[in-house]
Amino acid sequence: MIIGVLALQGDFDAHRRRLEELVAEVVLVRKADQFDGIDGLVIPGGESSTFLKLLGPGTLQKLSDFVHSKPTFGTCAGAIMLAKEVENPHQPGLNAIDMTIRRNAYGRQIDSTIVEAASALGEEPLEMVFIRAPRIEKVGPGVEVLAKRDDYPVLVRKGSVMAATFHPELSADKRVHAEFLKLVRNGSRR
Ligand code: GLN
Repeated sequence: MIIGVLALQGDFDAHRRRLEELVAEVVLVRKADQFDGIDGLVIPGGESSTFLKLLGPGTLQKLSDFVHSKPTFGTCAGAIMLAKEVENPHQPGLNAIDMTIRRNAYGRQIDSTIVEAASALGEEPLEMVFIRAPRIEKVGPGVEVLAKRDDYPVLVRKGSVMAATFHPELSADKRVHAEFLKLVRNGSRR
């Protein structure tokens, strides 16, 4: 089982470390042909508009094919990439999860914050680090909400695709990545 972490920009290295702690084999993905060799993909936080620029049309198509066929986990900017509709401002989404997401919805960098909330991942509250986070404004049918902040979903899953608007790679709790690795082990989309 090899997990790719999209490594164009952003905090990909924190995901690599976390996945390695969970004894996954990790490759940093920078080129289109690397998608063929991985069983699951993490799209990290960073700047989603920059990802779109750096990917270019060929690699974006490869990424799109991947997220529609194999387990993928997007955090923050990665969650924005996976959405169906992106607002503030509008930009293309890969439509891997039927959700509308609003970029920078909680304010500027200075408003970044740490929240603890209940989640479907167990009894212990989940620490959630929000950094210029987007907000999931609406989810479509069949999208599971695994955690919420106030009344908005912050951790969602559709089939074998997961998205978090926070940064689980920056907390000590490994449950979110472990949940993603379960999806990869299960392989196909439910
Ligand atoms: N504000 C970024 C965006 O809109 C996301 C921030 C993050 O990934 N920490 O893409």
